[in-house]
Amino acid sequence: MKNQAKVVVIGGGVVGVSVLYHLTKAGWRDVMLIERAELTSGSTWHAAGGMHTVNGDPNVAKLQQYTINLYRELEQISGQSCGLHITGGLMLAGTPERLDWLKMTVARGRYLGMDLELIDMAETKKRFPLLDEKHFVGAIYDPIEGHVDPYGVTHAYAKSAQLGGAEIVRQNRVVDLKQRAYGSWDVITEHGDVHAEHVVNAGGLWAREVGRMVGLELPILAMEHQYIITDDLPELAGQPELLHVIDFEGEIYMRQERGGVLLGTYERAGVPWSTRTTPWDFGQDLLPNDLERIAPSLEVGFKHFPRLGEVGIRRIVNGPFTFAPDGNPLVGPVPGLRNFWVACGVMAGFSQGGGVGLALAHWMVDGDPGADIWGMDVARYGEWATRRYTNVKVRENYSRRFRIRFPNEELPAARPLKTTPIYDRLQAENPVWGDYCGLEHALWFAPKGTDAREDVTFRRSNAHKHVAAECRAVRDAVGMIEISNYGKFEVTGPDAERWLAQIMANKVPANGRVALTPMLNENGKLIGDFTMCRISAERFLLVGTYAAERFYQRWFEARLAGFKVQVRACAMEWLGLSIAGPASRELLQSLVDEDLGTKAFPFMSFGAMDVGLVPALVGRLSFTGDLGYEIWVKSEFHRELYERLVAAGKPLGLRHFGGRALNALRMEKSFGSWAREYRPIYGPFEANLDRFVDLKKTDFVGRAAALAEKTSAGQRKLITLDIDAKDCDAIADEPIWLNGRVVGWVTSGAYGHSVGKSLALGYVDRESAQATTGFEVELIGDRRAAVRLDSPAFDPSGQRMRT
Ligand SMILES: Cc1cc2nc3c(=O)[nH]c(=O)nc-3n(C[C@H](O)[C@H](O)[C@H](O)COP(=O)(O)OP(=O)(O)OC[C@H]3O[C@@H](n4cnc5c(N)ncnc54)[C@H](O)[C@@H]3O)c2cc1C
Repeated sequence: MKNQAKVVVIGGGVVGVSVLYHLTKAGWRDVMLIERAELTSGSTWHAAGGMHTVNGDPNVAKLQQYTINLYRELEQISGQSCGLHITGGLMLAGTPERLDWLKMTVARGRYLGMDLELIDMAETKKRFPLLDEKHFVGAIYDPIEGHVDPYGVTHAYAKSAQLGGAEIVRQNRVVDLKQRAYGSWDVITEHGDVHAEHVVNAGGLWAREVGRMVGLELPILAMEHQYIITDDLPELAGQPELLHVIDFEGEIYMRQERGGVLLGTYERAGVPWSTRTTPWDFGQDLLPNDLERIAPSLEVGFKHFPRLGEVGIRRIVNGPFTFAPDGNPLVGPVPGLRNFWVACGVMAGFSQGGGVGLALAHWMVDGDPGADIWGMDVARYGEWATRRYTNVKVRENYSRRFRIRFPNEELPAARPLKTTPIYDRLQAENPVWGDYCGLEHALWFAPKGTDAREDVTFRRSNAHKHVAAECRAVRDAVGMIEISNYGKFEVTGPDAERWLAQIMANKVPANGRVALTPMLNENGKLIGDFTMCRISAERFLLVGTYAAERFYQRWFEARLAGFKVQVRACAMEWLGLSIAGPASRELLQSLVDEDLGTKAFPFMSFGAMDVGLVPALVGRLSFTGDLGYEIWVKSEFHRELYERLVAAGKPLGLRHFGGRALNALRMEKSFGSWAREYRPIYGPFEANLDRFVDLKKTDFVGRAAALAEKTSAGQRKLITLDIDAKDCDAIADEPIWLNGRVVGWVTSGAYGHSVGKSLALGYVDRESAQATTGFEVELIGDRRAAVRLDSPAFDPSGQRMRT
C-alpha cells in the first residue's frame, strides 16, 4: 500500500467504487480506495439489484438514467459482466389517485427524454400475466428498467478504476482520521498510514462511524429490509424474462430471479438496525428473517399475484441499508470541514450510484458537481437533524416508500421541532402548519372553530377558498405573515462591502438601502438569491433561503481569504414579521416615530427603528408585490412585535396570511423563488434577473459566464403562463407544450386569486419564449391551453410597491 495519495475513498461498496472510477475518469489518477474486508461487504452484496429511472426529483431522475446507461460502458472497459438484465418495468396503479400520479410521471418523462407509456389493464395483463387485474386500474411501462448483479457491478467499477490508475486496498480498516494544519488528512489504517489531500466517506453501513472519526454525526440510519425468492414457476420456463414490477398499493416490488420471483416489500412497521453504532464484525452477513413482519404485505401480494401464493418460498433475505431522513443520498463537501467529502445514505445504489460518483468526482476535480444535485447535497441538513430526528424521519420515510406524497401533504413525524416565540399565538389563529427544515410555519389559516386540516390532493383542496380570503385581505387592506423561515447572515467588517461586491452579482446597496441579488457560481449559474440590507457602512444583514443556510456557509467560508470580514449565520436569532397591503403603511406608522412616507422612506429603504417598544430593522419591500414591510427583530422581541402589530392592525382589518397565500401572491407578480425558478441549472438572464446583475462591476464570481450568457441570450427563458385550468393548477415539473411539441417545464404553479387566473412559471427554449398563444400545460394527463403573459398578472407597472 502506498503511503501518499491525492484522494482516499473509504469503503468498497457500489458507491465507493463508483466515486473511485469517476475520479479516474475525470483525470485524477493518484487515488486509492481502502476497504476493511472484501469489496461489497456492506449492503451491496445482498441487494436485489433492481434499477429504474423514475424519481420524484427530475434532477435525480437524470442521474438515475446516467447510472443505468453506464453499465455497458463499465462492461466494455473492464471486461467484467454487470449481469445486466434490461427487462422493462411496470408501475401499477390500484387507485384513481395513483393513476393520476402515473399520468404526471409520464408527463414529466416527456422532457426528461424518458419513453414512458401509460397502458390500460388489458395491455397490462398481457404484459404481466401473473397479476389479478381486478386490483388495478392502469399502469405505466418503462422500457429502461431491470436488474443487475451487485457483485458484477461493483467489480466492474473497481476494475475500470484500476485500469484508470487507481489503487484498491482490501482487508484493511480505516481506524482514524487526523487532519493536518493545512487541511490534508492522515488516514490511519490497520496496516499503516496514508497521507491524503482529500478523504471521501463512502462507508455505507459504517458511514456514521467514519463520520465520527472527524466529529460528525451524519443523519443516516440503516433499516432492515426483506425480500423473498419463490420456488420456480413452471410457466416461466422458456418465456421472456418477467418485467420488473412495482405494485404501489401492495407496497411491493418484484422481478424474476432464475425460475422464481423475487418479491420485496417496504412494510409500514419497518425496523431500524443498529440505531447507534454499526458493529465492525458485521460483514457479508444477513439478519434473522422475520416473515411475521412482512406477512401483511405478502398477503396483499399473494392476492394481487395469486400464483405466487401457490408456490413455496425458496429463500428469504433480510439485510440492512442506510437512509437519510428524506430518503435521498448525502453527497458533497461537508460544511466546516476542509477536504472531507461524503457519498453515503445511498438507498438505491444500483439506480443512483453512478450519478452520485459522477457528481462527487466533478465536484472534487472541477469545484462544481456539474449537475443540479441540490436534493442530494449533504448541506441540506443542519444540527437539527439529530440522531433521534433521523430515526423518526427515516422510519416514516421507509414506511411511505411506495405511498403517494401529495404536493400539499405535510408529514407528521418529528414535529413540532423548531418553533418561534409566537407559535402559540399563531396556534390560536387556527393554522395548518408546514414543516420547513424542522421549523413550523403557518401554511394557511382555517376559520376558528373548524378543523384545521387540509385534504391531500393533486387538485385544489379545501384550503382554496381560505387562501383566497387571505390574498384578498392583502390586496384590499393589510395582511401579516411570519417570515422567520428565511436564512440570515450578518456580514460585518471593514471589507464587508468589497466582499459582497465580489460574491454577489448586483451592486452593493448604499447605507439605508436594500438590494436584491443573485449569487452565481463560476459557471454563471444561480446558486442563491439574496436580499442585501445595509445597516451601516460596515454592517449588512443578508436574507436568503433557510434550507440553503449551510450550503451558503460552505460557499462563503471558501471565499473569505484576503478580506477583513466576518460572516455569521444567524437565521434563528433574527426573527421576522411582514405586513403587506395598502393599509400596511398606516399600520406601521402608528407604531414608529420615523416618517414612512414614500419620500422619506421609499421602496427598498432599510433602517433601524423602534416599532413600539421593540428595536427593529425595517425594510420597505414585500414578496407579495404590494406595499409592504419586512420587520426583523432579535428573537426575544418577536412576541412583543407580534402583539403590537396585531393590536394596531385590528382597526385596519389586519388578517393573518400564510405560505400558500404568499406563493399565490408572488406568482401574480412573476417573482421567482429559490429551488423553483432559481437553481444551478439556470442562468440569471434566462431567469429574467437582468436588472439584478451589475456587469459594470469589473469582477465578481461568475461574471465572465454571466456576460457570455447575456451575449448569447442563454438557452431557455423563464415565462409566465395563464392556464385555462379546471379544478387543478400546475404544481411543478409539468411539461409545457407549444404547437404540439414539448418545449419546457413548469417550475411553480398557483391560482392567482386577486387576478382570477391559474398561473404557472416555467422555462421554455429561447425561441418558444417568443410565442404568446399555442401553449399547453399538461395537468394530470390533460393538456390545458395556456397563454404567455408579457408582464406580471398583477400590477404590471409595480406602482403598488412603490407609492
Ligand atoms: C435486502 C436489500 C435489498 C436491496 N435491493 C436493492 C435494489 O434492488 N436496488 C438498489 O439500487 N439497491 C438495493 N439495496 C440498497 C443497496 O444495497 C445500497 O444502496 C448500496 O449497497 C449502498 O452501497 P454503499 O457503497 O453506499 O454501502 P455499503 O454497501 O454498505 O458499502 C460500504 C463499504 O465500506 C466499507 N467500510 C466501511 N467503513 C470502513 C472503514 N472504516 N474502513 C474501510 N472500509 C470501510 C464496508 O466494509 C463496505 O464494504 C438493497 C439493500 C438491501 C439490504
